[in-house]
Amino acid sequence: MGRYTGPVCRLCRREGVKLFLKSLRCDSPKCAIERRGDQQPGMHIVKRRKISDYGARLREKQKVKRYYGVFERQFRRYMDLAGRSKGNTGSTLMSLLERRLDNIVHRLGFAGSRRAARQLVGHGHICVNGRKVDIPSYLIKAGDSISVKSRPKSVRYVRESLEGFQGRVPEFLSLDKADVPEGKVLRLPGIDDVSIPVQPALIIELLSK
Ligand code: SF4
Repeated sequence: MGRYTGPVCRLCRREGVKLFLKSLRCDSPKCAIERRGDQQPGMHIVKRRKISDYGARLREKQKVKRYYGVFERQFRRYMDLAGRSKGNTGSTLMSLLERRLDNIVHRLGFAGSRRAARQLVGHGHICVNGRKVDIPSYLIKAGDSISVKSRPKSVRYVRESLEGFQGRVPEFLSLDKADVPEGKVLRLPGIDDVSIPVQPALIIELLSK
């Protein structure tokens, strides 16, 4: 699968909001959004134009995809799953994205960014209910425990990340910073647990046409 390897701050600047794609830098005055406001990326200063309804829906979808680091095909799969489930499609879509293992690992503070979390999972450093899971898109369930493989290298990396972690563990998770850090999923996440402002209704409107 393709992977975006360009400068990530550019993605935030394109969307005009902080997407927290880097670790400590995002909470520092060095953040590009802090320094340049919502000025668009590029050499020349271009004023943001008023966008059409279609443009607003498209930007909302791109923002969510970039925030979670998923590509179009995978995003459509989440959309299909959300559409087939009972309840509000937009809320279910956000819940599915929030349940991704790489997101959970990041939100527990085991890795500074989702990208780092994806690598941590992919390299086999994370266990779910005591068993190694190396699939970043794995969907966690209520009651799951997320731990670090009890290997010195894995534990050291996670402990270092936890020391620099400035965020807050969301209410649907609990964290035990024991010798081998472990998190617990207290309940399934809902739309209120997403840490950036989102309007999933705009995405649904775009994709259901
Ligand atoms: Fe860059 Fe993080 Fe700021 Fe986004 S939030 S512009 S990734 S430093």
